[in-house]
Order: sequence, then C-alpha cells, then structure tokens
Amino acid sequence: MNYSENKKITGRIHSTESFGTVDGPGVRFVVFVQGCPMRCLYCHNPDTWDFTKGTEMTAEEILDEYEKCREYITGGITVTGGEPLMQKEFVSDLFAKAKAKGIHTCLDTSGAGFSKEKSAEFDALMSVCDIVMLDIKHISKEEHKKLTGLENDGILDFAHYISGCGVEIWLRHVVVPNITDSEDDWYKIGLFASELKTLKAIDVLAYHDMAKPKYKSLGIDYPLNDTPPLDKSVAKKAKETIMRGLKDGLKDGKN
Ligand code: SF4
Repeated sequence: MNYSENKKITGRIHSTESFGTVDGPGVRFVVFVQGCPMRCLYCHNPDTWDFTKGTEMTAEEILDEYEKCREYITGGITVTGGEPLMQKEFVSDLFAKAKAKGIHTCLDTSGAGFSKEKSAEFDALMSVCDIVMLDIKHISKEEHKKLTGLENDGILDFAHYISGCGVEIWLRHVVVPNITDSEDDWYKIGLFASELKTLKAIDVLAYHDMAKPKYKSLGIDYPLNDTPPLDKSVAKKAKETIMRGLKDGLKDGKN
C-alpha cells in the first residue's frame, strides 16, 4: 500500500479473476493481493508471497475492472491473496468504494497481521466488510507455527474480534495427512467456533497437491512432496467432528 503525493491509496495486486465461484456467495470478482507473511506448507499461491512483486492499482482501477463483468457477477467482490490484512488501508478503501456502489464485500484471510493495538484500522475495515472467510490452519499454537511459520494467537484473537464487530464469519479448515488430521484438534476447532457469535458456515477441505507444478515453475521445493492427497471421506469425518465440538460448545455455553 502506498500514498502518493495526491494521497491516492494503492494496493499491490497479484491478479484479478472475473468469475470466482468458491470465494464467497454467488459468482464473484476476486482480487488477489500480493505479499504474504506466512509460508503454509500446502499453499497454492506461492507466487503471491513476495511483497515486492505485483502491480500497484487503485480502488477505482479495480472497480473499473469489476464493472466490465458486472452483468454476470451475482455475488460481489472478494479480496484474497497473498494476505489482504497486510494491505488493510487499501482493502478498506476498496470495500468502502464498493459498498458505496451497492457491491457486496468479502475478505478472504488467514488473519495474519491482526493486532489489537491497531484496532481503529481494523474497525474501519470491518465497517465496510460483509463477510470474513477465515482460515483456521491449525488450532495448536505450536503446530500452527510448524505449518505456517507463525503462531496462531493473533489469528484466534482476530476471529473473536470479527465476531465482536458483528461481521459474518465463514470458517475454513484444510485437512492434511499427518499435519491436521487429529480428531482431538478437529473437536477443538469446533469448540473454538462455538465462541463466535456471527459464525455462519464451516467449510472443511481435503488437501490436494495440484500446486506442485506451480512450485516447480517458480523453482521452489514443494514441502509436502511425500504427502498424498487426502481421501475426501477423511474431510467428511473432520467436518462431523468439528460440528460435534461446535454443538457441545454451544450447549456448554448455555449451561
Ligand atoms: S496464508 Fe494463504 S497465501 Fe499465505 S502462505 Fe498461507 S495459504 Fe499461502
């Protein structure tokens, strides 16, 4: 994010996608921001990691692109990455201008970069955000660090913070063989989810290795080379266990 002399806010953008179907409700215009502080072992977008790459764009330029495909967009705009919270001033500006045009807004984030100390900046973002899709990569602090390079305290704080702002939360969890396949951890995710008053959906995804060729083309070693794709039945079991934790947590919360 940059402020030029005339105070224009720009974002560093990796790319845009005009027909996103898995990035929030409806068909959506998806903006991939450039730069991410995490290094998730199963990341599909290693090309978005480097903060120095990408193209600088203003909110107006993004919304001009949006207008070109407005006729078939049934959902709205989603900002993903990379990590959008690393460019929160830009995302706030984009979402504010989108909302002024009646466009539904969705933030797809890992939560990395949240800090309670900067809550005024996050308040501005939440005030123009309709949905937050939040990844819970691992519920254990230590295992989260091994999987992503960062601890998860701030991310779990962020989930509570979003809920406190009254913004809808869609949680997502990727099940990876030998990394996030413990029933105990799934149950704990469910318990944690039960604390989020604005939770609207939980999506559990099975790990796959389709990003391998991308790593090869970037000359980066693929960290999960020996990890097989997850059988979908395991993801189903994970979802059931998370839901059991959620229900138990909600029940306990009422007692
Ligand atoms: S947070 Fe997202 S973009 Fe960043 S490394 Fe993890 S999966 Fe990749």
